[in-house]
Amino acid sequence: MNLEKLQKHLLNNPDDLDAWDELYSISKNQWSKKFINSLPVEAFALEKSREFPHHDLDGKLDIPHLKNSIENLKKCDLSETDKEQVFNHLNEHLQELSNV
Ligand SMILES: [Zn+2]
Repeated sequence: MNLEKLQKHLLNNPDDLDAWDELYSISKNQWSKKFINSLPVEAFALEKSREFPHHDLDGKLDIPHLKNSIENLKKCDLSETDKEQVFNHLNEHLQELSNV
């Protein structure tokens, strides 16, 4: 659910605690597990294991999560091939951003 939908949903269903949870995590710019599960596979830098999410539901790049993904990649225990794949994907976004 995107923020706008979520706000409408909460106006009609104020007792939906899950939705409040989701709103809370969106407002803190932390994605809930449920939200991450709802993302399309293209939102992840490592599609096969659905790791490093950094696009929102509309496919828009999410800068804080791009930053998180890059930070997590350094700590992550991945095979060289996977690491390279994730690195190249994230790096492409960085280059797009610096070209703006
Ligand atoms: Zn991407």
